Amino acid sequence: MNNEFYVPKRVMAIFAHPDDIEFGCVGTIARWVQAGAEAVYVLLTSGDVGIADTSLTRAEAAAIREAEQSVAGAVVGDKEVIYLREPDGALVNTLELRKKLVREIRRFRPEVLICGDPTVWFVSENYINHPDHRAAAAAALEAVFPAAGQPHLFEELAEEGLSAHKVRKVYINEFGGGGTFINISDVMDLKVAALHKHESQFKGWDPEPMIREWSTAAGKGKEMAYAESFRVITLESDEDWAKRTTEMA
Ligand SMILES: [Zn+2]
Repeated sequence: MNNEFYVPKRVMAIFAHPDDIEFGCVGTIARWVQAGAEAVYVLLTSGDVGIADTSLTRAEAAAIREAEQSVAGAVVGDKEVIYLREPDGALVNTLELRKKLVREIRRFRPEVLICGDPTVWFVSENYINHPDHRAAAAAALEAVFPAAGQPHLFEELAEEGLSAHKVRKVYINEFGGGGTFINISDVMDLKVAALHKHESQFKGWDPEPMIREWSTAAGKGKEMAYAESFRVITLESDEDWAKRTTEMA
């Protein structure tokens, strides 16, 4: 291990709802994009249940939230947001969903995949983790390994011109633990700006003090004013990765 800041070429973030990325890991994505990475977001649902306004249809709510997410992504310079439009509030990790995610992974061919932690139920004394967050995280992990890299699984995707792809590292976004801390001090204002784009979620409250508090807590004791935390799984060693990228060049 050295202290050099690792920058992947392509990053894919898979999360349940519009705003999950901004609450969780957009600072890290912003740093990578600034350093030259391409980032794509995959949103499993369009968050239509997350607007508690019964004068809106769910389709109208989904359109609002997708528009907010696309603007939030642009704040940090993401390349694209892909909306899979699975049922918000009722997300289930099915084989069908795994195949949809394998399709996106084989299409974009990320070096790093970012997702949530499917084991998290409790992170504080006043919140129970949303079941969609766990389902999305489990679906992402089960798509990335081993499925995406297995040519004989979902082989029908070859008809779409998509071949197997092995992701190098998975960054599992944690609530303060996980062992890998990314210093987001220089992009903290961007994180706040991106989060604020989800206007429908912040009627009557401002998430800025809370998100600064979380990011301060993650950086505590690590000489980081603000940080995001991850468990990092390395699926391909530095040596094997170097060999593969040389062969591809
Ligand atoms: Zn969420």
